[in-house]
Amino acid sequence: MSHLVKPQSLPRRLLRTPQDLIAAGLAPPSQHAALQAVAQHYATAIPPAFLDLIEHPNDPIAIQVIPTPAELEVTPEERSDPIGDDALSPVPGIVHRYADRALLKPLLVCPLYCRFCFRREHVGPDGGLLDDAALERALEWLRTHPQIQEVILTGGDPLMLSARRLGQIMDALSAMPHVTTIRLHTRVPVAAPERVTEALLDTLESDKAVWMAVHINHARELSEPAKACLKQIVRRGIPLLGQSVLLRGVNDSEDALEALFRGMVAARMRPYYLHQLDPAPGTARFHVPVEEGQRLLAGLRGRVTGLAWPTYVLDIPGGYGKVPLGPGYVDGPRTVRDPEGKTHNLDRL
Ligand code: SF4
Repeated sequence: MSHLVKPQSLPRRLLRTPQDLIAAGLAPPSQHAALQAVAQHYATAIPPAFLDLIEHPNDPIAIQVIPTPAELEVTPEERSDPIGDDALSPVPGIVHRYADRALLKPLLVCPLYCRFCFRREHVGPDGGLLDDAALERALEWLRTHPQIQEVILTGGDPLMLSARRLGQIMDALSAMPHVTTIRLHTRVPVAAPERVTEALLDTLESDKAVWMAVHINHARELSEPAKACLKQIVRRGIPLLGQSVLLRGVNDSEDALEALFRGMVAARMRPYYLHQLDPAPGTARFHVPVEEGQRLLAGLRGRVTGLAWPTYVLDIPGGYGKVPLGPGYVDGPRTVRDPEGKTHNLDRL
């Protein structure tokens, strides 16, 4: 890839097309036709804030967002709806998997498009925004299901909504007596922190508990603008959770995970979930086997503060829910292992 130009010389604009990537030196011209074929299936967006972080087209930031022809290779275990959202959607925009909570997906637009996304067959800049009538139907479903205590705003990315639209949704959720908690899942603070304006933050004011889970996979995503953005969010009384996906070439080492989780804690964010990669189509190059993930996390036990140790989870393909993957430290009815691997027999466990 010696023909590639330094990203620092790039204009600060959103890159969307194969031509944009080639002009920026992020893909070779020989891939133009193959990348056009990828673009028929999957959206691409690399916003300026993320582009600023790319040092090389194969670095841990770049490979998360630059499409490659390998995305057209689908392995037998990969599926278009890996966690089974579609079957659990009673009305457009709602996913109801667990009794006490539901997802509300008001749009399918993201600030960038992760090449490993489990919703990659659905997300994109075209369409996917619930119109007024569809949004009202989704809100009405929530209003009429009093068992729903927590609403998780996701998509797409809810912070890609206009302040007016997000405010409308927050007001509607805040008015539902049975809803105690509103959680937003977003990548905007690291991918496009300039979107988090005072006006947008004003819309998140609510008498309900508002939480925010931020998707971050590499410590370098916690740039100065990102950290400043996160600080503003915390100042509004919104606790931050970190969500990451274990990804080959991005964070598949103890050092990378340690830097990521320590970076999150230093940015006032509790690492919450480290997700095993969902088997979405064309994502095999990012796969890290579960045993390797368990070894990586075990390597961090005792090495980092417990605050910086997320739960390693798998969303069981087919829509059967999330389960923790360990590593476990209980060896038998009365035996535990310590972080060094020594076993201890206990009278009571
Ligand atoms: S931000 Fe989330 S929903 Fe959007 S492409 Fe990335 S993983 Fe998918």
